[in-house]
Amino acid sequence: MTELRIDALSKSYGGGAAVLDGLDLAVPSGALAAVLGPSGCGKTTLLRIIAGFLRADSGTVAIAGRTVEGPGTHVPPERRRVGIVPQEGALFPHLSVARNVSFGLTGLDRGESRRRVAEMLELVGLAGYGDRMPHELSGGQQQRVALARALAPRPELVLLDEPFNALDSALRAGVRADVRAALRATGATALLVTHDQQEALSAADLVAVVRKGRVAQCGTPQEVYRHPADLWVAGFVGDAVLLPGSAEDGAAATALGRIPLAASGGDGARAGGAPGGTVLLRPEQLHLVQDGPEGTGGTVTDVCFYGHDAMVTVRVDGLDDPVDVRVAGPVTVRPGQRTGVRVTGEATLHR
Ligand code: ATP
Repeated sequence: MTELRIDALSKSYGGGAAVLDGLDLAVPSGALAAVLGPSGCGKTTLLRIIAGFLRADSGTVAIAGRTVEGPGTHVPPERRRVGIVPQEGALFPHLSVARNVSFGLTGLDRGESRRRVAEMLELVGLAGYGDRMPHELSGGQQQRVALARALAPRPELVLLDEPFNALDSALRAGVRADVRAALRATGATALLVTHDQQEALSAADLVAVVRKGRVAQCGTPQEVYRHPADLWVAGFVGDAVLLPGSAEDGAAATALGRIPLAASGGDGARAGGAPGGTVLLRPEQLHLVQDGPEGTGGTVTDVCFYGHDAMVTVRVDGLDDPVDVRVAGPVTVRPGQRTGVRVTGEATLHR
């Protein structure tokens, strides 16, 4: 079942250029979808329209099969059954944790309300924190209380607006995993807005990459990373290696040898189409070897060490632009050294 369905949604502010420009998106029930895009692409605008704080110019939003926004329809925010986890400063500072979590609960008696609050705090790993005040919590704990508050009324849909921005990077991964686990435990459908590709790829079941108010590609994290629809998506979701190449018989002929083409992704020709284009690989598909296939040698120009891996830049003979090679183990090459380069896996071809 599709829990959230958005069709041809458009919005501009004050008659200016379109911020949302015919955006389509479908999120299945129980999925955590990330809306990933650069600053200014319209993510917050989209979230505000889904929540009901802002009217769309045209198009529709349906939640659990019910149109909440569309021509002649505008269901007010409090009747959309949407829970929101804002960026930061989300908690009411003068209310205890328990009262923050119970804030949006209506129609429950005191006992039920107390049980729901305890259940939600348990879910986010903060059982026993109900009497604390927000300032007595860490940033990560505050975000988990904000999630508990959003989930307490059992919404159809949870919207998370860059919820980890205020957290330092050491905390982020842990809080992200906690939030994901809590969402899974409730089976809630959720939309996470972020400009952080790592966050989208690691947290979401589905990633919608948004560019200039439209979905450029929507797929699983693996699909958008491995089989990007175009070079813009490819570059936005990860490091790219670009090579000139041409397609023949389901493979691309490149300066690094023949590379099989993936069955999906890419907007260039596969076998049978116009042959020329740009071949896309990821740096972890390139490997430094003593002797590469004939004619695929190069010179190391730079080594950048990141701890868990390193990026080695190689100027391949016969290629204008250098390529990046991700090395997972110890790095034994130095700038100036000759090396072979071997490719594994499939590429996509783009015009
Ligand atoms: P960020 O990641 O920086 O928050 P975003 O993708 O969430 O960006 P939006 O906040 O939706 O983008 O803004 C999209 C565009 O609309 C921007 O160019 C912004 O300047 C413009 N905009 C947003 N809100 C308004 C407003 N109330 N009035 C006029 N223009 C606005």
